[in-house]
Amino acid sequence: MTTNGPVDRLLATARGAPVDEPFRVTGVMMQYYYVCKRELWFESRNLEIDRENATVVRGTRVDETAYEDKRESLRLGMISLDLLDDGRVVEVKPSSALTEPAEMQLSYYLWYLDRVADVHREGVLAHPRERRRESVELTEERVKKVESSIRAIHDLVHRPSPPPAERKPFCDSCAYHDFCWC
Ligand code: SF4
Repeated sequence: MTTNGPVDRLLATARGAPVDEPFRVTGVMMQYYYVCKRELWFESRNLEIDRENATVVRGTRVDETAYEDKRESLRLGMISLDLLDDGRVVEVKPSSALTEPAEMQLSYYLWYLDRVADVHREGVLAHPRERRRESVELTEERVKKVESSIRAIHDLVHRPSPPPAERKPFCDSCAYHDFCWC
């Protein structure tokens, strides 16, 4: 099957169409693209070391107990997400640090549902510890940003070597710290 670039290839892969080179982007990959591109490249090579430590320190680990009586998990192809009982997609983060990565992860879920399953939903980004919630809608602007991010992720994970290390506040707690700074 001939496709027109990474977005079409991802959609064909998601729909189970025959694709020469299947291409998958998970919600976590979208998040990492906005956290650290070098980390995403390592992760794409399955260089998994101590993810637990990094996610806890950064405050990006999903709080398993928040809204547990009001949400149900859904797996659809390459994404796993949580739905509230009012139908909105919820992404729970313990902290509002790293807002853009969380917003893009949620926007990707909304885009994927819309494009792959023809299901149109709104999202809510929840920070229960801070008693904060923010609505996320799949605007045209967000669609463009999600699709340009998919193309950029495709280019990044197909590079033969990772992008150079750039110091970030959470590098000391990163699973790949020793690959960057030792
Ligand atoms: S140590 Fe810092 S630069 Fe290196 S992968 Fe982790 S977050 Fe990125």
